[in-house]
Order: sequence, then structure tokens, then C-alpha cells
Amino acid sequence: MRAGPGQKCLAMSKLYFSYAAMNAGKSTLLLQASWNYNERGMRTMLFTSSLYAKADAGKITSRIGINATANLYSADDDLCAWISKEHKRKKLDCVFVDEAQFLSKQQVWQLARVADRLGIPVLCFGLRTDFRGELFEGSSELLAIADNLREIRTICHCGRKATMVVRRSADGRTLTSGDQVGIEKSMYVSLCRRHWDDEIGRSAAATPSARAARPRAVKAKAPVKKAKPKAAPAKKAKAAPLKLAAAARARPPRRTKR
Ligand SMILES: [Zn+2]
Repeated sequence: MRAGPGQKCLAMSKLYFSYAAMNAGKSTLLLQASWNYNERGMRTMLFTSSLYAKADAGKITSRIGINATANLYSADDDLCAWISKEHKRKKLDCVFVDEAQFLSKQQVWQLARVADRLGIPVLCFGLRTDFRGELFEGSSELLAIADNLREIRTICHCGRKATMVVRRSADGRTLTSGDQVGIEKSMYVSLCRRHWDDEIGRSAAATPSARAARPRAVKAKAPVKKAKPKAAPAKKAKAAPLKLAAAARARPPRRTKR
């Protein structure tokens, strides 16, 4: 049995982590799931990282045009205290966290306590690894202690599953070092592990053709700030009818079977 909408047993609320590479539709899935709760008259609380909060302050937006208001969390916020206070004010049925890779280790534990002690399911969505191929702190802790892990799939240009991301400079060159955070989504591209390895240029076995094909890797200087998104997809697009979400699953995600 799973703790889903309508089930109130404290012991059954879980901490979920849905992870993926960039542009896999994480925010869309989050917004759909939250919508499904709301549609049943249930109350959700949404969080996203303050690191991305510029133009979209306090909002979770998806590339297909739907969005929702969200609380912005920072590294020093006690999420359990925050959620507990809101829960006392008015009962919460589910908590959603976008950009969960930026959670601190302590904050992941705070969210675990929300599930375990307040009896509220917590669904986290985030990137697994950064552009250097290393785990984010939040993702690392979620992979360690979440009750339920789900991989959201997206594909590389070659058609294989994309599990890695590369960071590109404004002129399209691949960056191999630099800050893990303080970034702009549009500068990231999802690749399969093999093409990531080729592009990063770590592999001595990278074929000559792969070496020739990939843009020259460079070191990142300061966090690159400019770079208008090349395609700027649907930024101003009107919110799409949320009806599309109604067809989606009403329950929190299940573990992916491989
Ligand atoms: Zn590939």
C-alpha cells in the first residue's frame, strides 16, 4: 500500500525523489501531480529554490507553459518548521519541492521528518548530477534516504537515455569546471553517458571522430551571466489549460522498475 491522496495514516507518508537530467519535464510532472491533489480538494504546498528566482520569483514554471506559485527556499530555511507552521494553520495533504538538488543535507532530513512525523507525503524533483558528473548535495541525500526513487527519462541526440548534463558557454563551448549553482537552465544540455564523456573530453578512448566533432572544452570563468536562451521556449506563453493534468496520475510516483 502506498500513501496517496485520501490515505491519512501517519506511518505511510513517504519521501519521494524523482530525478532526471535537464529538460526531462520534472516541473511539468510536479505541477500535474499537485493539480491532481487540488482537483480533489486537497491542499498542497510548493517549494522551489531561491537560486533560480529571478524573473520567475516564487513560481514553478514548466516548459510547456503551465506554472504555479511556490515558496522560495534558501539554504538556511528550516523546512520542517515552515511546513509544520503552515500545516497547523490549515491542513496540508502534500508537499512538493522543485529544484531539490539544491537542498542541503539537513533540509532533506527536515523533509523526511515532514513525512515521518507530520504524516505529509513529500515529493521532491531535481537533477541527479551536475555538469561535472558529480552528485548535488540534495540529490545525494535524497538518493540515500528517500523511500521512493523514480527516474524521469529524457533522451540524448543519439536516442539513448540521457543521464548526464553538460554546461555550455554562450558561444556553445562545453565547460568542464566552475560553480555548481548560480546557473541558467538554458545553458545545459542532456546527454547519454558516452556522449557526455566524449564532450567533456576525459576519455582517452574517445574516438578521433568524436574528438573532432565535439566543441572544444574550456574552463568556466565566473558564472556566465549573459546568454539569452537560444530558443526561449514559451516564456511569455499563456498558461496552458490545466486540463491536461487532469488525465495524469493522481497518486505520488511509484518506484521505477528497471
Ligand atoms: Zn548519446
